[in-house]
Amino acid sequence: MIEAQCPICHGGHLFPLVDLKALPIHQNFLYRNYRDAINADRGNLHILFCPNCGFAFNKDFNPNKISYTRDYENSQICSPYFLQHISNRINRIIDGTKAGEKKIVEIGCGNGYFLRELAIASPASICIGYDPAFHGGSSELSGRLKFIPHYFKEFEYGDRPDIVICRHVIEHIRDPILFLQTIREAINDEKEMALFVETPDLNWILENKVFWDFFYEHCSYFSLSSLMLALKKSRFKVIEHESIFKEQYLWIKAEREDYQNNAFGNQIGISSDLIESAKRFSREFAGLISFWQEKIKLIHKNGPVAIWGAGAKGAAFVNLVDPEGKFVHSVVDINPVKQGGYIAGTGHPIINYQDLAKHGIHTVVLMNLNYEQENRELLKRAGIVISIEGYQ
Ligand SMILES: [Zn+2]
Repeated sequence: MIEAQCPICHGGHLFPLVDLKALPIHQNFLYRNYRDAINADRGNLHILFCPNCGFAFNKDFNPNKISYTRDYENSQICSPYFLQHISNRINRIIDGTKAGEKKIVEIGCGNGYFLRELAIASPASICIGYDPAFHGGSSELSGRLKFIPHYFKEFEYGDRPDIVICRHVIEHIRDPILFLQTIREAINDEKEMALFVETPDLNWILENKVFWDFFYEHCSYFSLSSLMLALKKSRFKVIEHESIFKEQYLWIKAEREDYQNNAFGNQIGISSDLIESAKRFSREFAGLISFWQEKIKLIHKNGPVAIWGAGAKGAAFVNLVDPEGKFVHSVVDINPVKQGGYIAGTGHPIINYQDLAKHGIHTVVLMNLNYEQENRELLKRAGIVISIEGYQ
């Protein structure tokens, strides 16, 4: 019996999905030398699943260990596939809201790429981004685009927003309902307002057994049912939801709910398939890691192995499958800022794909199949012939 309560529905019948000790706290920190990388701060992953609402969370998460400073580098804008995804989302926001002058706030704007593109696509709008990891000028586009380099607490710059965007933020927050309520309470009750949320879909992770999607920076994992419940409990009503990025992410548009709707309490329709996937994942988790350890050892016999993707997925994968750096030679990333750096925890070097041949790499294992076509194209254009492994 686990003594814990689901932060979304307060259910108590939880079961473990992942139980691992001493994994790196930050997957996206830039480590410029090997020693610093292997000495990275560590924490436990004790991820519990709630079969009542379909939420999962790291019981051992300590927000004081997390720091999103300027060394936090998670930009994916080097990838055309990712840029297409960004463009689709911007179109969705613009199409889904009435045209004209808008005040748009992005909470967790990272390096500001998304908000800048949105500001350009919506030339009458004022856009304001909050992020402690932001580095750059505080004002662009003749003052239409502003950046505030700290956490969101309340809306600054006078008027309340018409649109609030929160992409890939809520999974980093230990108390998502408190966070959503902070946004909700900061909204003027007379004004129409749309909230857009994007976050990884727990259902996809479990169904596809992508165990390297569990890592310390993400303490909250949502299925559609748990995200809808969290929004409802924070007095938002869901207007539309979509499965995007080849089902890896959830996308929700919500609006203000003026009255607290307690009709369903903490009950929400959760699919029996999700519960089954969670149970299966829980049973198979240790076996999945052993399977990949054996697989990498086997591939390694043909020649050196690299992993493609030095973001959180690749970092989580090598920490679980090759923690001592014995069988994976290096990790490829197309982001030039990351190249020459080292993976947190294991110290695997991060290299440019163009150097795969130079390092004599025989096989590359892709961490995200959404980029498979793009990765194959890059290798083809560079004239690199190499064995490519996916995960399905
Ligand atoms: Zn729950």
